[in-house]
Amino acid sequence: MSIRQNVLFKIKSLELDKVKVPKKVSTYFGQNTFSMETMQKHISKNTFEAFKTWISEGKTISLAQANEIAGAMKDWATGLGATYYTHWFQPLTGLTAEKHDSFISLTGPGKVIEKFSGNKLIQGEPDASSFPSGGIRATFEARGYTAWDPSSPAFIVESKLGRTLCIPTIFISYHGEALDKKLPLLRSDEVLNKAAVGLLKLFGHKKEVKKVFSTCGAEQEYFLIDKNYYNLRQDLIMTGRTLIGAPSPKGQQLEDQYFGTIKERVINFMFEVAEEAYKLGIPVMTRHNEVAPHQYEFAPIFEESNIAADHNQLLMELMKKVALKHGMICLLHEKPFAGINGSGKHLNWSLSDNQGNNLLNPGQTPEDNLQFLAILAAVLRAVYLHGDLLRASVALAGNEHRLGANEAPPAIISVFLGEQLTNILNMIERGVKSKVSKSDIMDFGIGRLPKFSKDSTDRNRTSPFAFTGAKFEFRAVGSSQNISTPIAIINTIIAESLDYVSEQIRKTTSTGKDFNASVLQVISRITKETKDIRFEGNNYALEWIKEAKKRGLPNIASTYESLEALTKKENVVLFEKYRVFSREELLARYHIWIHMYNLTLEIEANTLNEMVNASVVPAGYKYEKLLASTLDELVRLKKNANLKVNAAALKDKKEHLCEVVSKIYYVRKNATEMIKLLDKAKQVSDEKRAKVYFSELKPLMEHIRKHVDALECVVSDDAWDLPKYREMLFIK
Ligand code: ADP
Ligand code: MG
Repeated sequence: MSIRQNVLFKIKSLELDKVKVPKKVSTYFGQNTFSMETMQKHISKNTFEAFKTWISEGKTISLAQANEIAGAMKDWATGLGATYYTHWFQPLTGLTAEKHDSFISLTGPGKVIEKFSGNKLIQGEPDASSFPSGGIRATFEARGYTAWDPSSPAFIVESKLGRTLCIPTIFISYHGEALDKKLPLLRSDEVLNKAAVGLLKLFGHKKEVKKVFSTCGAEQEYFLIDKNYYNLRQDLIMTGRTLIGAPSPKGQQLEDQYFGTIKERVINFMFEVAEEAYKLGIPVMTRHNEVAPHQYEFAPIFEESNIAADHNQLLMELMKKVALKHGMICLLHEKPFAGINGSGKHLNWSLSDNQGNNLLNPGQTPEDNLQFLAILAAVLRAVYLHGDLLRASVALAGNEHRLGANEAPPAIISVFLGEQLTNILNMIERGVKSKVSKSDIMDFGIGRLPKFSKDSTDRNRTSPFAFTGAKFEFRAVGSSQNISTPIAIINTIIAESLDYVSEQIRKTTSTGKDFNASVLQVISRITKETKDIRFEGNNYALEWIKEAKKRGLPNIASTYESLEALTKKENVVLFEKYRVFSREELLARYHIWIHMYNLTLEIEANTLNEMVNASVVPAGYKYEKLLASTLDELVRLKKNANLKVNAAALKDKKEHLCEVVSKIYYVRKNATEMIKLLDKAKQVSDEKRAKVYFSELKPLMEHIRKHVDALECVVSDDAWDLPKYREMLFIK
């Protein structure tokens, strides 16, 4: 029996010792966070007011006030059993990082007290040399600082034997360059705020609108597989995806997973994730099966983007942790299994003002609708002008298996608006003289606008950037990705277009033209100019690829080419103008992400090589030996015992043996070539190497896989030690 078959007997659901009746969520939601309410209870009124002003207007608090908050935070955290604290941050590699310190402070020989000062709350100094800086470090000093982000509440992470207070922070270099993903997001929200408030003022909102911010709800897709299988797959352990593995006869074609009930083992996992998430104030809302077998999704209620990004990072950590407790592994990779759907993260994005109004919600009155349409026009213009940046924001090795690789969504960035909005924009473009019925029209006096019926937006699941009723949904984000960078880029490009729309309206009204008519004119012009970016049809269809090419829309499949957008002059100018990224910061990201791509592929190739040589080929030899000895025996018996063997059958046996021998040969030959290619690539620069990996290494790996998978389908089951797709994906 193979090792793999042995494991089959171990697969069983976690035995839960007791049935648990969950508590009412409202009684414990956010209990492990140092929320505004908790803070208010623990500090003086003055300090709390100062803190609120800091959050809303950026006016920093005094050191004495920081000390007071630090003390309160420490008392609260130690009261809940925390003994350590950490500045929690998001380095450029896509993980979250922590350096832990104890609260203790020596007060005399053998005596300690718990202490936490304002200084320690506000600033930390992890060793930056262990985090990539993409050249920033070479120019400046190796020192890096973490600085408290007061807009995201501190939280306590529970482990079995202790608790840690985590303080969300940004991570910067000695000279203030962002070495993380959070700071650019915070900067971009500031930029968006200014631009959006500017536009709203034109629309007559005076004092009541103080702030506009982006909101985000990230739908998180993932796979769950049994840990016993995972442990036997080097590829899953090393790379998060299967590098080889023949597809099982049944995949997702019956769609029985999507509509089926959630398995008991999985639902228990989901309950526990939700409970842990609620303690941390993460508003997990929806949970369901996805299309592929063993694929699922969690979606939260949307929040302010910065918080949503922190919460998504935390949720991913929680999912991995809780899955382990249930004997499973949570795979967040974009493409863990070939031949079935990969995982994405739909990033739902909108704008909200400080009164909670969603600015992408078509309003009740014609004036509101006009404002909505002006913002919509800004979004269209932003995507039209900066599709390259959106594509770059989701460029990583894992996502290469989705975008532009026959899977949803394509690498072509287009916008879907739905029939109703499309009709409205068409009418505006034509000057609203069309023959719609009277009840569908809103009279502006100066021009007429069709009525919006709420919630009638239809759905197009294939569009990478779709309007889905009061929000846009960016579907190209990878499941493993930190959403901070995509949001920062969306915020910036839309801020720029909001500024443009404001400026155009101002220009037009300055000629003496009526305000509403001016706005309509601007919307009409932008609608015309940006038409190429709009697509309502099936984005997966071949016709769209051809059509997009005709329209001149880029369709970039590779990560290295997509990332080049970060180095383009006009993009550097844009980000520098809005101070979201400096030139150095952009280039640093470009270099780090190209480097990460290369590292990922090198790990994949080396893992594949090891699997081929240490598992696949030996399994092939075992089977080869079986075939050879059977044949040998047969030939011997034919000769010695004059056995009447069917000549065709004997020929078939010989052919079968030769086929296996040749398959093994090709697998080995290509693997050797792959190692040579890796060696060759080491001599060239990172950029060139990424190109070699994309255009030569990846096809070679696919080629090896083809032969390995063919071998898997013939080699006897008990010689094959690697868990098979049918087992990983269909075992209950
Ligand atoms: P689906 O996209 O599957 O139709 P929903 O429309 O219900 O699902 O919402 C999906 C996600 O979009 C949820 O996480 C939800 O919180 C988020 N969302 C809804 N409204 C907004 C908004 N105004 N801003 C940002 N995200 C939003
Ligand atoms: Mg969705």
